[in-house]
Amino acid sequence: MNTFVAKLSKKVLCHKLISMQLLQKLLPTIINIQEIPNKSFIEKEVSLHMLRLDEIDPVVSGNKLFKLQNFIKEALSSQKKIITFGGAFSNHLAATAAMCKELQIENIAIVRGEKPASLSHTLKACKKNGMQLEFISRQAYRLINQQDFLNELQNKYGDHILIPEGGFSTTGVEGAAGIAGLYRAYNFSHICCAAGTATTLAGLVKASAPGQQIIGFSALKNPDDFYDRMQLLLPGDDHKNYVLVKDYHFGGYAKTNKALFDFMNSFFEEYKIPTDFIYTAKMMYGIFDLIEKDFFLPKSKILCIHTGGLQGNLSLKKGMLNF
Ligand SMILES: *Cc1c(COP(=O)(O)O)cnc(C)c1O
Repeated sequence: MNTFVAKLSKKVLCHKLISMQLLQKLLPTIINIQEIPNKSFIEKEVSLHMLRLDEIDPVVSGNKLFKLQNFIKEALSSQKKIITFGGAFSNHLAATAAMCKELQIENIAIVRGEKPASLSHTLKACKKNGMQLEFISRQAYRLINQQDFLNELQNKYGDHILIPEGGFSTTGVEGAAGIAGLYRAYNFSHICCAAGTATTLAGLVKASAPGQQIIGFSALKNPDDFYDRMQLLLPGDDHKNYVLVKDYHFGGYAKTNKALFDFMNSFFEEYKIPTDFIYTAKMMYGIFDLIEKDFFLPKSKILCIHTGGLQGNLSLKKGMLNF
């Protein structure tokens, strides 16, 4: 059995990502593309592999490093501070704070919702890493993209690099497209990833090879504006080789149930791979279910991307997970 398809060297990545300084610290010497073997996959004549971006770093894990890289580069070269946005369980905030700490970039988060009596694990970690947290009401948060609010930020904090929530922007897409460089050589027919803002998905679409299908698994219940978002993320791009699967949100963003935890625990038992309850577990559940339902034609060579996010599991009650 093919446990490892590829080991990618640090050198290959050095050309693509941020700075040597951060790389030395963050990147493991190898990033694995690991086979997920299963009896039923043999019957269905499909194969499934996983790109282990989660192994990059427990906090700056996965897709965030890629999505953020061009913003961080800009902040470093301009010596400006970073301002970004997110909710109490945002992996995006956790990753931004950790990277900024490493590179000594001043950073501020506008956090959705009034300040709670006790901070989420994620926000505590952000604060510990030196991120300045500013809480605003959910109502006010809806207006964060409006010019008035942006002017206010400028007045209050001065010149800064603005990172939209979740990195949602063409800059984020450019960065996320770098992920495809890690697997391009291996001719996968399908690339699967979890989708929140869909910035990562758009990056994979942008960098996709002819004939390749990109499948996003929505972590949100009502991603109604998905196709509009893709238009914004990929302006002028006529790629049509992607779909958003909407059936595996388990009730909505960060919602869970027993079936999801059972799946996470049995997946870990079988493959020794931890997943996060917001994104990657829902995607994996979906992929297994879709393979079972013959969504993939025989001979499909499927790659799923473990985008990390494992720090989010720390906000769960103890004992829910066997890892
Ligand atoms: C943020 C995140 C995503 C979603 O990425 P988008 O680019 O916003 O779609 C997926 N998986 C994990 C683990 C994440 O932390």
